Amino acid sequence: MSTISDCVFCKIVASQIPASIVHRDEQLVAFEDISPQAPMHVLIVPVEHVASTNALSDEHDALIGRAMRLAATLARQRGYSESGYRIVVNTGSDGGQTVNHLHIHVLGGRQFSWPPG
Ligand code: AMP
Ligand code: ZN
Repeated sequence: MSTISDCVFCKIVASQIPASIVHRDEQLVAFEDISPQAPMHVLIVPVEHVASTNALSDEHDALIGRAMRLAATLARQRGYSESGYRIVVNTGSDGGQTVNHLHIHVLGGRQFSWPPG
């Protein structure tokens, strides 16, 4: 399994730095964002170090499908299925990506605006 020694999310996956983990399985880890932007702000990351959506291959298709379903499950557990929630993936500089380990933001509990800033 690919890991990058100076990657903060690889360290969270490896329990080398603390995080509030809300889900863990062989492929995916989900944890609370350290700087929440909404009442719910969870990040879902692959256990494998995948730098961004640019690094995805067909081998990751099932993983990404599972990650999207996990996002819906976590939002449902917190009561946001009906009111709604937002799933965000930032890629690269213009996309606003600051951690180079693919992560899915799951945000809920308030009204979000569109278009994004
Ligand atoms: P992005 O800008 O899409 O790359 O999002 C990176 C996210 O990671 C931001 O929302 C940060 O608040 C969050 N983050 C950075 N370091 C940590 C950490 N150690 N634990 C939890 N979340 C983190
Ligand atoms: Zn990583």
